[in-house]
Amino acid sequence: MKKEQKKIKQKEKKPRLKLSRVLSDNLFVLRIVHRAAPWYMPTYFGWSVFASLVNFLSGSYLLRVAVNKLQTPTEEALRRVILYIVVVFVLNLTQRLVTGWINNRLYPKYNLQIVGEFQELLFAKARRVELECYEDPAFYDKYVKVMDNAYNRSMNVVYALDRLIWNAVSFCANAALLFVIDPIFIVFGLIPFVLGLLNKRANKLHHTLTTEVTPSERKQSYIRRAFYMVDYAKEMRLTNMYRQLFELQHEAYREHMKALRRYSLHRVPIAYVLNIGLEVVTILGAILYAAYQTLNTGRMLLGDCLVVFNSVATISWTLNDLIANLAEFHANALYIEDFRYFLDYQPKIDANEQGLQAEGGTLSLRGVSFCYRGATQSSLKGIDLDFHPGEKIALVGCNGSGKTTLTKLLLHLYEPTEGQVLLNGIPATAYSQTSWRRQFGVVFQDLKTFSMSVAENVLMRPIEEDDEARVIEALKQSGGWEKISSLPHGIHTTLTREFDDEGVVLSGGESQKVALARIFAVPTPIVILDEPSSALDPIAEYTMFDNMLRACRDRTLIFISHRLSSAVLADRVILLDHGEIVESGSHKELMERNGIYAEMFRKQAENYVDTAADGEVSV
Ligand code: ADP
Repeated sequence: MKKEQKKIKQKEKKPRLKLSRVLSDNLFVLRIVHRAAPWYMPTYFGWSVFASLVNFLSGSYLLRVAVNKLQTPTEEALRRVILYIVVVFVLNLTQRLVTGWINNRLYPKYNLQIVGEFQELLFAKARRVELECYEDPAFYDKYVKVMDNAYNRSMNVVYALDRLIWNAVSFCANAALLFVIDPIFIVFGLIPFVLGLLNKRANKLHHTLTTEVTPSERKQSYIRRAFYMVDYAKEMRLTNMYRQLFELQHEAYREHMKALRRYSLHRVPIAYVLNIGLEVVTILGAILYAAYQTLNTGRMLLGDCLVVFNSVATISWTLNDLIANLAEFHANALYIEDFRYFLDYQPKIDANEQGLQAEGGTLSLRGVSFCYRGATQSSLKGIDLDFHPGEKIALVGCNGSGKTTLTKLLLHLYEPTEGQVLLNGIPATAYSQTSWRRQFGVVFQDLKTFSMSVAENVLMRPIEEDDEARVIEALKQSGGWEKISSLPHGIHTTLTREFDDEGVVLSGGESQKVALARIFAVPTPIVILDEPSSALDPIAEYTMFDNMLRACRDRTLIFISHRLSSAVLADRVILLDHGEIVESGSHKELMERNGIYAEMFRKQAENYVDTAADGEVSV
């Protein structure tokens, strides 16, 4: 068993990145940063060189000049020291003044530009990734990690490069000074260089740890959302689900701790060897040597000896940091790999923007079967269907019979596992995805309204001139106008109070009416309604359907409704059961057949107050 686990672990191990790939990954993000803010890096790095030099001149070099000159104090020496101090003082003042300005004015502006660039890249891709990817845990883990870390990790490349430049300048200046004093100091400087290689291993461990804790962090993020988001607020207060969530929280915590223990144990000896090697061997060794040369042999001036005390530590830390820096580029590259994987990911459903332009017509399913990723059973099996222009079709069936899945395939949100979706006999894949989706006006059962104005929620795009009348008319037809017209800002009222104190929170039924207005406002050739009226009362539902049928006179209308009274209004009723079409025909035909549909209809009709014997429902 253990052997097997080890084998799996080995298989999952990330391939070692080649140096060329590490470089290419880091350059990849630097290019994005440069594209977003061309002056950011030249300013940032140029300023680092200057600051590093000022730091050297006011540290080690000042010490040397001051102590050496004052060891034999003459008036000339004193004047020179004072002049030098004044120059260093002015340089420091200038450096701090300019640093304040660029840190508080320039960089925030550049940072916003860079965040914007990264977000645009990620959001554009996220919109194109097919829904199926959300059901693949491995992809989803990567996706979450990229969405959370892409910007910070990418900026880490800039910061690492900046520190590299700072360290390189500081190292060269201090090493040159030590070399001038006594070339033997080069030996002491090289020890941390060797030790720093250990840092690479430490960074790798850190990345493995982050990868391993991602699933438990996802759980924790889900639990956080469940506790604070309004979507769960009622259930969280009325039920004991919080106990289950606490249990899940503890489980996630235990998993996280386990991984942490495993990796922190590995990191302890590395950190120990690094610190001892650096602080004891290198720094103390060099200091002892300098002290010996000054006090015993007299071959070193006091100022030089003090410079050694100061510079050898600076050099050691700088070198150590330089190596850590290089390892950091490697660690960043491991994350950038995920980022690039996501950006390079080619959705299985090709956007095919050069494809044919869809312009309505007969929509067909030929031999369509579909199985969700990871599912053991197909949700749709061998479906053959045609939706002719202007036809009104009701999809009915028990929960889980495949109605929503069928509409998702029509919308090309998923690719059928078998068979094809066609428009006018041409496969969906031959059309441009944008034009394909533009054919449809859709309202889903789990519809979402956005924290934007009512008008924007109806049009699902920015509002333009002359749109107002169209939005109001659409709301009148969907039954939403009564509520919206009573609001102080009418169709310009923001939905939800997330960003706007004057925003409004609509009830479920009112939100449905706003969403349904989308269908009236935008005249698409095909309309799909997936239980959009579940929160409407029967009278509102009947009126809405009646208006919908009139508005969709020339449009294909495919609707799913759990109230079969609306199926009466359809030209054709399709009954699905376990992913298969089991009955199909007009309401009248199906009632005469006296099969499953007729039985379902009669059972529901019993619940209506005034139901005619022939199936005509009046509410
Ligand atoms: P209906 O709309 O008729 O209630 P659905 O089309 O939503 O049915 O679901 C059909 C079947 O597919 C059900 O068994 C459901 O559990 C399964 N299913 C739906 N969505 C997913 C999904 N994202 N992943 C896996 N299985 C799913």
